[in-house]
Amino acid sequence: MDLAANLASIQQRIMVACARVGRDVDSVRLVAVTKNHPPETIRASMDLGLTLFGENKVQEARAKIPLCPSAARWHFIGHLQSNKCREAAHYFEMIEGLDSLHLAQELNKACEKASKTLPILLEVNVAGEASKFGYRPEALLAEFKELNSLSRLEIHGLMTVAPWSATPEQVRPIFRRLGELKTQCEQILGAPLPELSMGMSGDFEIAIEEGATLIRIGTALFGPRAAANKIAKERAVDEGLD
Ligand SMILES: *Cc1c(COP(=O)(O)O)cnc(C)c1O
Repeated sequence: MDLAANLASIQQRIMVACARVGRDVDSVRLVAVTKNHPPETIRASMDLGLTLFGENKVQEARAKIPLCPSAARWHFIGHLQSNKCREAAHYFEMIEGLDSLHLAQELNKACEKASKTLPILLEVNVAGEASKFGYRPEALLAEFKELNSLSRLEIHGLMTVAPWSATPEQVRPIFRRLGELKTQCEQILGAPLPELSMGMSGDFEIAIEEGATLIRIGTALFGPRAAANKIAKERAVDEGLD
């Protein structure tokens, strides 16, 4: 795995995608997804200039983040469990992916106790896949005002995980729909929402063309992650199923 070469290639692809639609490269931020990768990988990434990292489990973050340079900044990109809100508020500068009022209220309480405010993104299950977390679009619009009334959370935008597809072009309508939903939320809010987090290793260029401001990339940067059975086991432990 040649991290420097992978990063250079991704940066080049970001540049080309931005140029295609007349966007400034600085309007797209790369979240390097480091789940299942050790602190050494994060240090090596920082030597190459990366500063923003994404983790999808509080349990992994708790073990890893204290071992990483303090200049690293962290986004939570997974499904947050309500009993982990306090820790999530401690380790992460943004929670990408709140998907219920209950969870938002729990996170708001945790932030109140910690005397802090936390930027969040709301996760949308645009395609309505049964296997995925995230708000259905109608439910998001119905709860948006109440979500916005939580004083310790600042809604910065929307996030989605697109369905897997053999050809990236098939996910374009999903990304476009997330952008339209952001516009609808902005109308409810009466103010702009700065962030759209969408696009991963397989489809980030299309996400950029459709307005992504945060792209979350793991595999294209760091290569394949640990075997699926290891991940499944960690998930079982994390969810108390083990
Ligand atoms: C793992 C993960 C990613 C990165 O996926 P790659 O395909 O490895 O780039 C992005 N977003 C979320 C929410 C993830 O869990």
